[in-house]
Amino acid sequence: MTDVILPGATLGVLGSGQLGRMFAIAAARMGYHVHVYSPDSDTPAGEVSAREFTASYSDETALVEFAKSVEVVTFEFENVPSAVSEQIEKYALIRPSAYVLDVCQNRLREKSTLQNCGLPVPRFQPIRSVDDLESSLGQIGLPAVIKTASSGYDGKGQAVIRSRDDVDAVWKSLATDEAILEEFVDFECEVSVVGSRNPGGETAFYRPFRNTHTNHILDVTICPASLEPGVESRAVEIAQTLFEQLDIIGVACVELFVTRNGAVLINEIAPRPHNSGHLTIDAHVTCQFEQQVRAICGLPPGSVQQHSPAVMVNLLGDLWQTGEPDWASACLDPGVKLHLYGKSAARVGRKMGHITALGASSEDAERLAVESRGRLAGVNKQR
Ligand code: AMP
Repeated sequence: MTDVILPGATLGVLGSGQLGRMFAIAAARMGYHVHVYSPDSDTPAGEVSAREFTASYSDETALVEFAKSVEVVTFEFENVPSAVSEQIEKYALIRPSAYVLDVCQNRLREKSTLQNCGLPVPRFQPIRSVDDLESSLGQIGLPAVIKTASSGYDGKGQAVIRSRDDVDAVWKSLATDEAILEEFVDFECEVSVVGSRNPGGETAFYRPFRNTHTNHILDVTICPASLEPGVESRAVEIAQTLFEQLDIIGVACVELFVTRNGAVLINEIAPRPHNSGHLTIDAHVTCQFEQQVRAICGLPPGSVQQHSPAVMVNLLGDLWQTGEPDWASACLDPGVKLHLYGKSAARVGRKMGHITALGASSEDAERLAVESRGRLAGVNKQR
């Protein structure tokens, strides 16, 4: 029988942003203690955790002390250096595994692994020089999307190539020696499937979330996503296969494109809870962070049943540019739930919090969420 890590134990998180914060809150609710580790101090996760380790990812002494203080380590962002996982594995379990982390840290490795698992991905080519780019464009066609193999997020480190005249400038702007060229997918919509799997192989998947991005940053998530039933089941089936093939233990999110002819293609995997899953805190029986606790501790998954249609909108630092947002007005509607991450510096584009609106339908919830956010910035004020 698989060992279970019971409430009362201490769980570790690498990274200390909002995902770690919401994980720590869910873990504390279930009677676990949480230690977080990152190079920063006074962090969103540290504020609500039992202990905050502030040290660099190359500080072996601090890493060993952290690993010895917990039973299992999970992470809230995937760019933790692989040497860190190796160090931690000597003293504590690490879930998802260092292998999963390694696959997700490099877009080329990720797409190749998915393709080898028989999973659907956009057509792609590895690019290591401007000559590779010139010749691969012949196979992929225009327009195409080029992305650095590592360190890209929220649209950083990527560009759309629309003309062969752009090739030199785009390659220079990426300033990398390893990239991936993908076909440009003319998608109908973007969806994500968040799921969890425990060491005994038990899985649970939320129904897909429909996502829209602004400036490459997630803006709005809607659930139910109003997809064709065949598309919805295909999206979940892809996620299920992925979890089993990669032997994922923990929570992960599969980001998908739904094409205009109903095909479903994987864009990328996040081996952790995801921004699009934040609405599960208010709209589902079990939220994605509790699922993460349950999965890494070997407990059975909680119910993924949704009790209300819901829409989440992100609150970016942009909202603060004209002064402190009007929080009281965001709480005017009893179906609107405010989440703030405790970050003090509100920079443009920085995720500071989110609002989840619950409604009678997805459309109703979307209207409420957008109106509330508008009131925050003073947009809906009469004067
Ligand atoms: P990524 O950093 O890979 O998640 O990409 C950020 C966003 O860029 C995605 O959410 C899509 O909106 C867009 N994008 C990425 N790859 C492609 C592609 N191959 N075709 C069309 N749009 C893409």
